[in-house]
Amino acid sequence: MMTSRVLRRSLHHFLSLRTLGTAAPRMQASGHLERSPSRAVRADSLPVMLTFEDPSAFRVKSFWELVRALGVFRLCSVPILVNNCGKIMSIAQTLLGKRLFALFMRPSVYAQFVAGESEGEIAQSMEKMSCLGLRPMLAVPIEEDLGESSGEHRYDQNLASMLECVSMSHSNTWSKDPMMQLKITALISPELCVKLTTLLSEQQYDLDLLVRAMEGEVGETFFPGLQDSENEHFLCGLQRLNKVGEASANKVRVLVDAEYTYMNSALSLVTTAMMKKFNQDSAWIWNTYQCYLKESRSLLLKAVRLSISESFCLGVKLVRGAYMDKERNLAKKEGRSEPVHESWEHTNDSYNGSLDILLELISQDPQRYRVIVATHNEKSVQHAVQRMEELGIDKDGGSVCFGQLLGMCDHVSLTLAQQGYLVYKSVPYGSVDDTLPYLVRRAQENRTVLQGIRKERDLLRQELRRRLKQGLK
Ligand SMILES: Cc1cc2nc3c(=O)[nH]c(=O)nc-3n(C[C@H](O)[C@H](O)[C@H](O)COP(=O)(O)OP(=O)(O)OC[C@H]3O[C@@H](n4cnc5c(N)ncnc54)[C@H](O)[C@@H]3O)c2cc1C
Repeated sequence: MMTSRVLRRSLHHFLSLRTLGTAAPRMQASGHLERSPSRAVRADSLPVMLTFEDPSAFRVKSFWELVRALGVFRLCSVPILVNNCGKIMSIAQTLLGKRLFALFMRPSVYAQFVAGESEGEIAQSMEKMSCLGLRPMLAVPIEEDLGESSGEHRYDQNLASMLECVSMSHSNTWSKDPMMQLKITALISPELCVKLTTLLSEQQYDLDLLVRAMEGEVGETFFPGLQDSENEHFLCGLQRLNKVGEASANKVRVLVDAEYTYMNSALSLVTTAMMKKFNQDSAWIWNTYQCYLKESRSLLLKAVRLSISESFCLGVKLVRGAYMDKERNLAKKEGRSEPVHESWEHTNDSYNGSLDILLELISQDPQRYRVIVATHNEKSVQHAVQRMEELGIDKDGGSVCFGQLLGMCDHVSLTLAQQGYLVYKSVPYGSVDDTLPYLVRRAQENRTVLQGIRKERDLLRQELRRRLKQGLK
């Protein structure tokens, strides 16, 4: 009775969403959002705008942390260094040797962006973060793309790391409604994900069958179009995902990363199967939507529709997207149209429009939908905060939270946390060696953010000057 009432209500919301989907708010030249008259807010009741311009957000940082952040951001503002950081680091490692290189990296770049290596170091960073009102979203830094695949044994080792991450995420004093990130390609080979994505463009797949396969209840050949060995690997991969789901359910929210368009359909398929199994009462498994993709709005609406028809709760990590250059180059090489929006402004419209859809849904059914506004973009954060106030969504109700990467845009994270919003920092951990590929890829993906981090540098400088005037603390 209760379920069908909730479903009917959701379907009704979805029908109104169809209108939203085509008439999503557009950024005007002024930077303000157009709204329907019924949603218009009277000027005298406008919520206070968060400005992210207060250097006191950095009072919680030690003197050395301020100096380190300034130094690292200065380096990151030099395009040639960021664009070639992979090569530079590998040359430095060869010249200095692994130990000397690690000695140089540990107190600088590594300490800025990575939580640590041992459980003790990680716990110390997390406790500090928790004192600042920030919540950790642990991320095992496993990076695998096509041609980098490893054998079944390696994927089992990755599973062990993921399970360790689940257990670390929820068994500590600093854990509060913990989240972690999961890369499907750490548990299923990228090659198989690409093949499945191609197959999915021609055929549908039965979610119930996938759920049964996760539980090991189907025979060896169950996905038409795959060879025996591929089917076998797929089954092993699904069972690995099932283990992560079972270990994390009711304890840790698992946010599945989106990767490249040539494998995303497969990632979404298995994530949806996990959602169907584990998200009956609350969103424990979340999927990621990359708003730089032209198809992102329709993918999001499809997910909403599926969550209604298959009766599961939907958790969404909303990002702009990290692989723009590679997506564009690949499309050019293959002579097809680019999957990414043609300009940053279009991506911004897409991001804020999708955010509006989700916030509207959450305002009507906060138990069923959740979103993490995973961005460093101040305008999008301000937009989310403003819409939350207009729609009466609780700051700390749990259905809307914010996410930034560790070491980046702390002025945004700390200001939000000080205002009572839920803020998660994506926290990689591991040795210098293990996290190096992660650091290189993140630096390149976020180079626009890193190079435009002028405001954070100004705020850091202001805070440093204040401390120097007062005498070193
Ligand atoms: C917690 C967290 C989790 C994340 N998980 C994922 C994930 O699973 N998958 C993933 O892909 N990314 C992920 N990201 C990365 C995220 O996509 C990057 O942080 C993002 O690319 C930077 O966008 P922004 O909104 O922070 O900053 P902004 O500076 O506002 O936006 C920069 C982004 O806008 C887009 N853009 C820039 N120029 C153009 C242009 N000319 N045309 C079209 N678009 C343009 C690109 O996406 C670029 O990265 C995650 C980020 C966070 C904080």
